Amino acid sequence: MKFETLCLHADNNIKDEWGAINTPIYQAATFVHKGIGVPADYSYTRLSNPTRAHLENTIAALEGGVAALAFSSGMAAISTVMKLFKAPAHIIASDDLYGGSLRLFRNVNVSDGYTFDFVDTGDTAKVKSLIKKETVAIYCETPSNPLMQVSDIAALSAIAKEHGLLLIVDNTFLTPYYQRPIALGADIVVHSGTKYLGGHNDTLAGFAVSANKDIAERLLYLYKTFGACLAPTDSFLIERGIKTLPLRMDKISFNASLIANWLRGRKDVKKVYYAGFSDHAGYAVSKKQSTGFGGMIAVEVTSRALAENILKKVKIFQYAESLGGVESLITFPMLQTHADVPEPERIARGITDAFLRISVGIENADDLIADLEQAFKL
Ligand SMILES: *Cc1c(COP(=O)(O)O)cnc(C)c1O
Repeated sequence: MKFETLCLHADNNIKDEWGAINTPIYQAATFVHKGIGVPADYSYTRLSNPTRAHLENTIAALEGGVAALAFSSGMAAISTVMKLFKAPAHIIASDDLYGGSLRLFRNVNVSDGYTFDFVDTGDTAKVKSLIKKETVAIYCETPSNPLMQVSDIAALSAIAKEHGLLLIVDNTFLTPYYQRPIALGADIVVHSGTKYLGGHNDTLAGFAVSANKDIAERLLYLYKTFGACLAPTDSFLIERGIKTLPLRMDKISFNASLIANWLRGRKDVKKVYYAGFSDHAGYAVSKKQSTGFGGMIAVEVTSRALAENILKKVKIFQYAESLGGVESLITFPMLQTHADVPEPERIARGITDAFLRISVGIENADDLIADLEQAFKL
């Protein structure tokens, strides 16, 4: 089956006696045993649940993994994956990451005795030079949040395999519709399902997809032990979102390319960060490993006053955290996602007081551009 078909029919094994076309919501904490010592297929929802299993089978098929686990949020998935390691584990991670992942690594995992090197994982020679005896994993987002740095997944995988490390890729931004890290050699794919997979800004979810059985078993053990599982109703909502993933991603990417080009032509815009520009440093790698550029754009305008003006005046774009939904959103990373990053570091990275991040939705592109046009007027 091709991708669009898998989004609907990857797991057609649901046994509903009424023939319901949708996966029923099995809102049950526990399941009745068939006899003494004979449990049913499902026993307790922290471990597994039929609605959630259906979603997990779909995600595993879309990402090309052996198994997927659905978590209550992206951070729950990433936190659980990080428990695969033990001190003094050393991890090489992208220096441009989702703020919550940075907080987890720096403030929680470090107190567990882990150490990190944060680098541009697009620089594979640099990654290689940092490997030492304690190194256990390479962790990257590509394109990264919010600076849209691109990493070569196949090249990182070759390094990881040579040194016996796990390669973990956060595939939230492009989704498996545009990028399949496991086929490129990743060992684990993580997601914030809250974003494009769910796609409607209405449900939190996270995923961890394993490339092999050994990792899948170790993750399942941690999953049932920590218990950050996705609830049945939320599993249903994420699955409903996935049915239209390809349609939404195509529309979002189309809109984003128009908006990125419109932004780039303006005198009051200093820099536009968008992976789809042919002069983007990672463009050749993007063309090789992904089939679309997604809907994320970051922009540095000429002043803080202008940035605040835009946030105040937008009518269709909504000034809100998060990304990947049908509604277009705009955020001010300095005060939101990157408020925890020390100021000198943040500014050195280009996340200044005139830096905005845009998540393009599925509205009509002319309306979105007209909205920005009026919001840019001081
Ligand atoms: C939002 C996000 C996360 C965290 O996911 P939650 O569902 O909010 O916990 C992780 N990685 C990326 C790239 C994200 O955008």
